[in-house]
Amino acid sequence: MNDIEKYNELMSIYYEIDLLMSTRSVLSWDLETKIMPPSGLNHRGKQMALISNLIHKKMNEDRYKKLVFDLKDSTNLDYVQTRNVELLYRSVLTATGISAELVRKLSIQANKTGQSWKEAKTKKDFRIVEKDMTELFRLTIERAQLLADIKGFKDPLSALVSERDPGFDVNKLDKVFSETKSYLVPMLKKVVSSQDDPSFFNKDYSRETKVKISESVADFYNYDYNSENAVGRIGEVTHPLTMRLGPSDIRITVNYKDWNGMISATQHELGHALHGLNKNPEWTYTPINSGAAPSINEMTSRFTENKIGKDMAFWDGYYPKLKEIIDLKVDKNKFYNAFTHVNPGYLRMGADEISYGLHIIIRFEIEKDLFSEKLAYNEVPEVWRQKYNDYLDVDVKDDNQGCLQDLHWYSGPYIGYFQGYALGDLFGSQVYYHLQDTVPQWKNDLKDGNMDTVHKYLTKNVYSKGNLYDPQEFIKNITGKEFDTKYLKKYLEEKYL
Ligand SMILES: [Zn+2]
Repeated sequence: MNDIEKYNELMSIYYEIDLLMSTRSVLSWDLETKIMPPSGLNHRGKQMALISNLIHKKMNEDRYKKLVFDLKDSTNLDYVQTRNVELLYRSVLTATGISAELVRKLSIQANKTGQSWKEAKTKKDFRIVEKDMTELFRLTIERAQLLADIKGFKDPLSALVSERDPGFDVNKLDKVFSETKSYLVPMLKKVVSSQDDPSFFNKDYSRETKVKISESVADFYNYDYNSENAVGRIGEVTHPLTMRLGPSDIRITVNYKDWNGMISATQHELGHALHGLNKNPEWTYTPINSGAAPSINEMTSRFTENKIGKDMAFWDGYYPKLKEIIDLKVDKNKFYNAFTHVNPGYLRMGADEISYGLHIIIRFEIEKDLFSEKLAYNEVPEVWRQKYNDYLDVDVKDDNQGCLQDLHWYSGPYIGYFQGYALGDLFGSQVYYHLQDTVPQWKNDLKDGNMDTVHKYLTKNVYSKGNLYDPQEFIKNITGKEFDTKYLKKYLEEKYL
């Protein structure tokens, strides 16, 4: 059997894995969007466990692993084929190095910690979840240490970071985040003192009106969720997310709470959906098209949310459409200033563009100190409060406003994950200037309500590339320049100073 035949066999196994993964997403969809009746929960749990088990089995079959190892250093494959094998090799290496027993323990502890987190939130008391969180971190560090040994990292957090965002480790992030922090902190102080507070966002509208608003945003982006040829749907959830049910079926979700936050959140999820829907069709059902590093995923969603959605050109185009739905007696400029208002608060979700990176840096700094045992778990709430005070000048009143606000540290797979969000903003800024340089008319077109220009750029340069490159290589491929933190600084200064 030659390498091409082996490769084809490997891809045919992967095809079934991909189908199983998307089947699991179908099962999650009506669970997450609460379409299914509550009495179906128990049975649904069993269905999903079965599918997960089948995926696990397929990925651990000897034949599958042998094909991956055989092809790992093959010189008979082209770049795309080599990349597909490399992506599978990374996951196989992880799967073989970590015992099923540890995976099982982690999953049980993650469930338990998630439950304690809910209770802690109800009582606004971190101490309720402290013990479970400590145990979850202990198991995560045990897994990460094994990864570090297999993959040659000098500390467990670096192994975890690189599992999500290959090419980054603790040292690299230290450098990137200290550069970023050095301009974000003073910039935030400067901008905040020169702004006044918007109040017309406090007006509430009916659910029906909010549905119309989110649909009008989706229409503006040409996201087809309701025609005969629809490629998606808009569902309702508490914590918005985008789900890939198939290559041409990617659905977004919205929380119809506050309408202005919802506009941003809808644009965020639209970014994820458009990214997923516009991959290279030749690579459907291969690893390159099935996912990307969190930093690249968040680059695409935070690009639509902020670089497009918080640009005046977008509001020139979209504001008249919004005014057809709600009777806003506010002049466009005033609305825009309010919408892009820089107002540091305790919440990461929905934070303004300058504060956002600092929310992430705080979490990374705490994670790093927990991993290196510089910090004890019972000190987390206090250190959190202190850092919010120092970096954002924000008073955190209780643990719900503080370290209990995100699920990440209380659900196994998202420990060592936060950096992707901040890297996404940094990458997106570098891409933004490349877009400005190469397609300068994009904002004029956007003003006329035409999304095609920017959409074509993103499809060609970002979406269609799938997971062809690791993050920093990807940015270099798009922009022709090495990744640099200076672009976010330039972008924020031009916009807010
Ligand atoms: Zn996202």
